Amino acid sequence: MNEDCIFCKILKKEIPTELVYEDDLAVAFRDIFPVASTHILIIPKEHITSINELTEEEKREKLMGRLVMIARKLAKEEGIDEKGYKLLIRTGKEGGQEVPHIHLHLMGGDWKVKPNI
Ligand code: 5GP
Ligand code: ZN
Repeated sequence: MNEDCIFCKILKKEIPTELVYEDDLAVAFRDIFPVASTHILIIPKEHITSINELTEEEKREKLMGRLVMIARKLAKEEGIDEKGYKLLIRTGKEGGQEVPHIHLHLMGGDWKVKPNI
């Protein structure tokens, strides 16, 4: 946990958010500014700033694999698995990362912006 981190505050329920998924390693919730009808953020419960901080490799491989498997499950539940969807992890300033707590975006359905970048 990191006291100044928005996503850690969501994990501690200090910021109200409707969780769409939770397990021992991760949670998922809807993005506050969705770019598509489905826009879910999947985050580890552990505060890891970015992909650059993925040390302890074996444990972290399992964790990152878990995030993708959660995305797969939620895509199915949201009914976007057949049509297709986009998974995105931004890293660092020039990667456009705004929240320094690793998160996987799951986006699909009706897009409000062009999905081709
Ligand atoms: P990034 O640019 O770091 O990849 O994405 C951060 C995402 O977090 C953005 O899409 C932004 O809309 C979302 N976000 C930021 N603050 C909050 C919040 O308090 N609640 C929720 N649900 N999403 C947030
Ligand atoms: Zn955090």
